[in-house]
Amino acid sequence: MSLPTVNRQVRLAQRPRGLPGPECWRLVDDAMPSCPAGGLLVQVMALSLDPAMRGWMNEGKSYIPPVAIDEVMRAGGIGRVVASQHADFAVGDVVTGGPGVQEYWAVAPDQVKRSGLAKIDLRLATPAQWLNVLGMPGMTAYFGLLEVGRPQAGETVVVSGAAGAVGQTVGQLAKIKGCRVVGIAGGPDKCRWVVDELGFDACIDYKAPAPQGAASGSSPEGARRWDAVREGLKQHAPDGVDVYFDNVGGEILDTVLTRLRRGARIAICGAISQYNASEGMTGPRHYMSLLVNRARMEGFVVFDYAARYGEAIREMAGYLRAGRMKSREDVVKGGVAAFPDALPMLFTGANFGKLVLHVSD
Ligand code: NAP
Repeated sequence: MSLPTVNRQVRLAQRPRGLPGPECWRLVDDAMPSCPAGGLLVQVMALSLDPAMRGWMNEGKSYIPPVAIDEVMRAGGIGRVVASQHADFAVGDVVTGGPGVQEYWAVAPDQVKRSGLAKIDLRLATPAQWLNVLGMPGMTAYFGLLEVGRPQAGETVVVSGAAGAVGQTVGQLAKIKGCRVVGIAGGPDKCRWVVDELGFDACIDYKAPAPQGAASGSSPEGARRWDAVREGLKQHAPDGVDVYFDNVGGEILDTVLTRLRRGARIAICGAISQYNASEGMTGPRHYMSLLVNRARMEGFVVFDYAARYGEAIREMAGYLRAGRMKSREDVVKGGVAAFPDALPMLFTGANFGKLVLHVSD
């Protein structure tokens, strides 16, 4: 196989304020790397676009160091081994790992383990599904729901970002575990899909106007929206919320806090509504509901469960095979050059399902 002479990359040009625009990126045609001694060379097939990327662009301390200026943007992905000097990998193997936003990934031997590089079995799922239900979002849903949310059969589970990568799997898994599941998502199409296709019991459209007669708060537009969520929760979770899997934070988290049941668990997975807030994040006001309801709110990071991914993959691959779980991906074409326009889709809600960037066949 003859390889091209250039490796197209997307590098971080500057740190964003608010939504990351095209000025944040530099498209570079770097020299094609060769296969490192004892390592391997991977042609990237697809990249996972994740809300966490917004955090990695910021300076400052987090659970992982920020991407440096002029560094290739960090990204998880899937690719095919095109050259190998590593005993565990052969040309043609399909692998998952952290290639970054580039077309080719040269992996030194000491990087293989550190980057979580692993072969994947395309008989179990498609490459896009390996970035979704069997990938990082699926692992997040599995461990966040089961280890942090700890739902019991018969309980009511509410999940925000319900039609997204993590949310779709949280809701389906909670149904499999015998729970009543209420999603929260933006727009009628997403809400219809999670109910009709995924089997959620209900879905609240947080972008819909509140029903007539609902109480209104201080800001007319804002109040209308959160009233819709409050009314939806009253209707679809009349006895209160046992488990809230929070993907979005902000006003939706605050509204759910007012509807907790005694002994509720809130799994803090993410707060996408706050990631582009240039004036800083807004925290929950109604946290005293935790005291009143003897409830627990706990954050988690999926990478802490890396040693147990195998067990989650086996269980969820079984659900996929049995047709008990669906996996929806939103695949953007255009290669790495399309990355700057694709990433903001996560923050406008333009993605429907797991956002994946197709890089090569
Ligand atoms: P996703 O849900 O596939 O995509 C993001 C979705 O968020 C959008 O489609 C949009 O859906 C919704 N959204 C955007 N802005 C919003 C706002 N202002 N208010 C309410 N909803 C908004 O993304 P994902 O990959 O599954 O990630 C979901 C969350 O999990 C993120 O917060 C992410 O950071 C977090 N996460 C955490 C971990 C961990 O280890 N803790 C791991 C992975 C992901 P609508 O159209 O419905 O608004």
